[in-house]
Amino acid sequence: MKYPRTTKRYCPNCRSHQIHNVTLYKQGKRRALSWSDRQVERKKRGYGSFPKEIFHKNAKINKKSTPILECSECGKKQYAKSYRVKRLELQEV
Ligand SMILES: [Zn+2]
Repeated sequence: MKYPRTTKRYCPNCRSHQIHNVTLYKQGKRRALSWSDRQVERKKRGYGSFPKEIFHKNAKINKKSTPILECSECGKKQYAKSYRVKRLELQEV
């Protein structure tokens, strides 16, 4: 799917339509010692069942990709509607 690199959208901060620059959302780096990771590690060490069920049936093939709109006036970022597509390309219009 193709998505424009710049769009004119409503900015709630400016309360008017402004030109927005579009980037795609990328997942941040995972912290090495997050609480949930430490908890899983602790549980894996001892007896008992595996802490989390391993998910085998993947019903959804495509991941959701979310465009982020950044207002060119105030610089505030907003999320646009996300799509479940194989590839979301940014393109000039
Ligand atoms: Zn704005």
